[in-house]
Formats: sequence, structure tokens, C-alpha cells
Amino acid sequence: EELAELEARVSVCRACSRLVEWREDVAVGKRKSFADQPYWGRPIPGWGDPEPRILIVGLAPAANGGNRTGRVFTGDRSGDWLFASLHRVGLASQPTSEHAGDGLHLTGTRMIAAVRCAPPANKPTPEERDTCAPWYRRELELTLPSARSIVCLGKFAYDALLAALTVLGADVPRPRPKFGHAVEYRIPTPYGEVTVLGCFHPSQQNTFTGRLTAEMLDSVLARAKSLSTG
Ligand code: SF4
Repeated sequence: EELAELEARVSVCRACSRLVEWREDVAVGKRKSFADQPYWGRPIPGWGDPEPRILIVGLAPAANGGNRTGRVFTGDRSGDWLFASLHRVGLASQPTSEHAGDGLHLTGTRMIAAVRCAPPANKPTPEERDTCAPWYRRELELTLPSARSIVCLGKFAYDALLAALTVLGADVPRPRPKFGHAVEYRIPTPYGEVTVLGCFHPSQQNTFTGRLTAEMLDSVLARAKSLSTG
């Protein structure tokens, strides 16, 4: 119920003028291959299990991905990698995520973007990140009680998560533990202990170059799954 209310409230947020303009411009301009499709063009709420054991946190929706389909990581190349891996490890009902009505569901897993509107060049400014942080923290507050593990896709998502957990009163070590692929830190929070896992972002930059392989992604997600049953 509270998640639904949060979703409704965030869906009309217009706090960041640059991002509002961008998300709407992309929706009007449309990439040629999607010219016949409606675009969402608004903030993207978290999606998945409302009482997740596993949280997967990313940076921000993609202009022609989540910003088009209205569902996080849905309809873009990063999502193709992510959902294929989630399916291989048994956390997603299908290996693909094409559009919001495709019947896909996640098992015990929820995905959240730290910044909810698509930014130009996939890079929100520090001010935009901070403006969106209260939405992010509220969703964490509502989902941390059930969460056992949190997978951070990329360093930005990792930094934003640790910042949010600190504000929420979690005992984040100082200096902050470093981001890396497959790093793992147990962090006590007022809602219970969570294990934070680092994972390289499944962006084309990482997957084309082999910096992130399917096996590497599978192994972090499988680890998150095994922690979630403990
Ligand atoms: Fe609102 Fe966040 Fe979108 Fe900024 S990025 S307009 S704070 S939902």
C-alpha cells in the first residue's frame, strides 16, 4: 500500500527541470526504431516484489529504455543482459523484458533506480542525484525490513546506496568500503543487517569490452540469491 502511494507520488514529480525537459523531449522526438510506440516520459518507480529479499539498484532509467516502456531496465541493452542473467539464476520468470505488459515477474527481487528520470548521456548531476534521493530513501525504508542483500550495478549506484543508508542510520564503515565487482560488505541498518554486493554495470561499455561477462553477472546474482535464503 505504502509502495503504491510512493509510486503515485513520484510519478508526477517535476523537481529537476533539466531532467523533466530531457525525459519529455526524448518522448516527443523518439528514436526512429520506436517511432510507432507511446513513450512513458516520466519518473520510473521501483518494480518487482513489494517485500523483496533482494534489491537490485541502478543509476537511472535509459532514455529509450525505461523512459520509453515505463518499467525500470525494460527495453534496453543493459536490461537484456540483466534479465537474461536473472532468469538463469532463477530470479526472473522470463529471460527478456520487452515492455510493461509482457507478464514478466521477479521472485523475491525488486529493482530501483537511484535517480528516477532519464538523464542526458546517462549522467545525472550531483544536484539531481540529491534532489531525487528522498524518493530513493523512502523506497529503501519500505523495502529494507525484508531485504537481505542489495546488488549495486556500478559505482554510482553503489555510492548513492551507501549515502542513502547512512542517512537512514545504517552503520556504514568509515572510510567507506571500496566499490568493485563481487565485493561484499555486511552493513547493519536499523531495519536489520544487509549484505551489499558490488557488480559492474551491464552497460554496453562493459559487456562489449568483456569487462563484465555473463558468468561474472550470474555469479553476483546467484550470490545475492543464496544470501536471501539465509
Ligand atoms: Fe523528481 Fe527524481 Fe525525476 Fe528529479 S529525477 S524530477 S527528483 S523523480
